[in-house]
Amino acid sequence: MRRRRNVKIVATLGPASRDANTVKRLFEAGADVFRINMSHTDHAGLASYVATIRALEAEIGRPIGILADLQGPKLRIGAMAGGGVELETGSRVKIDMDSTPGDAHRLFLPHREVFAVLKVGGQLLIDDGRLRLRIEKAEADSATALVEVGGRLTDRKGVNVPDAVLPIAALSKKDRADLDRALELAVDWIALSFVQRPEDVAEARKIVAGRAGVLSKIEKPAAIDRLDEIAELSDALMVARGDLGVELPIEQVPSKQKQITRVGRAAGKPVVVATQMLESMITSPLPTRAEVSDVATAVFDGADAVMLSAESASGKYPIEAVEMMDRIARSIEGDSHYRMVIDAQRSEPEATTSDAITAASRQVAQTIKAAAIVCWTGSGSTGLRASRERPSVPIIALTPVTATGRKLAIAWGLHCVVTADAADFEDMSERACQIAFQEGFASAGQRIVVTAGVPMGTPGATNLLRVAFVGRKGPINL
Ligand code: PGA
Ligand code: MN
Repeated sequence: MRRRRNVKIVATLGPASRDANTVKRLFEAGADVFRINMSHTDHAGLASYVATIRALEAEIGRPIGILADLQGPKLRIGAMAGGGVELETGSRVKIDMDSTPGDAHRLFLPHREVFAVLKVGGQLLIDDGRLRLRIEKAEADSATALVEVGGRLTDRKGVNVPDAVLPIAALSKKDRADLDRALELAVDWIALSFVQRPEDVAEARKIVAGRAGVLSKIEKPAAIDRLDEIAELSDALMVARGDLGVELPIEQVPSKQKQITRVGRAAGKPVVVATQMLESMITSPLPTRAEVSDVATAVFDGADAVMLSAESASGKYPIEAVEMMDRIARSIEGDSHYRMVIDAQRSEPEATTSDAITAASRQVAQTIKAAAIVCWTGSGSTGLRASRERPSVPIIALTPVTATGRKLAIAWGLHCVVTADAADFEDMSERACQIAFQEGFASAGQRIVVTAGVPMGTPGATNLLRVAFVGRKGPINL
């Protein structure tokens, strides 16, 4: 069972996609990785999703990635009198830490750390930026603000403070508990929300300790300011356009998407483009032209994966949304402009043996029109470097480590197969041919390019390249 596209699809699970049959249909429609949003999922729910996905994986015999997305330090306004009131544009409100429900002139903000960084002239955004306040007076535990854009404000709506780096821990108490549970359940990726500084990623990395990949969601201006350092410490990035479009002027989001995808690709770290990609499919069986163009743009940008949120988690057409993404991706990748754009963005290999062999494997494969590149990867690092080359021929990543196969499901172009450890390079070569044949990538008589590291088991130690003929009884060496 193979996909006919390079870009991967991440589908968020939720009430619309809880049952095993829907999860299976989402996978068949094209979902490569399932995201579980811990803002809306308890531990029992998480365990049940993981069990459903792993059962499906066993049934179909393909590795599937699981991404647990931590809520992060999300700020919220306190309760409002009567559940909600109207804030008039042009009026002034006091904001303080008194737990009395808020009204049209006073709001309860139960976060001392926010008062610590509020500055006169700075902004406080409420309810995904629908309401906008400008700070006029800032004190240790209170502030006064002008309501620049008013509206109805109901209980416990989210708060964004775009102009500040908040002195808060990257992981809340809830995040710590969710993270522990997710690691116990052996998910493949942990997504960190509202990353502000490289230290936030470092802190999470220490806890995760290699048990999962760490994906940093870029949704704060402060994170963009230190993007290179954050990318360096992360295993993957997400262009989290929902919150990014609240914290930054929305018209800057497309440029940031380009910037983040380029940084990720240059570093060889998978980049997921997320939020509102096919938003109208929450209620409609067809997307808008603009949404189709948006998915296409992410594919042209060279993103590793495109993501569905509410479309697959709580929408009316979860399967159709995945099918639509798959169709758009295949159509774009089949366009001659796509190859030109992808090639133009290629970064030079780094000065390592592994990168040299990987870059050579792309060149050799393209020159001889090989049916596939087959790379052996233990930790997944060589798989990611092969993906970074964005070759025009398919890449099969072979690994004896189940967790590696699952984790690489998020990366551009990698068809992962978990297979027994190989005895020697002869065995690796032979197995590569058999698997390329079996998985439908190569027919008898075609050539494949095989890369591997000998001895096996040292991460990133790829040092061999061979061109092998796929025969009916195994490879014929050139
Ligand atoms: P969220 O993250 O859906 O968890 O908020 C994605 C985003 O902000 O775009
Ligand atoms: Mn977000």
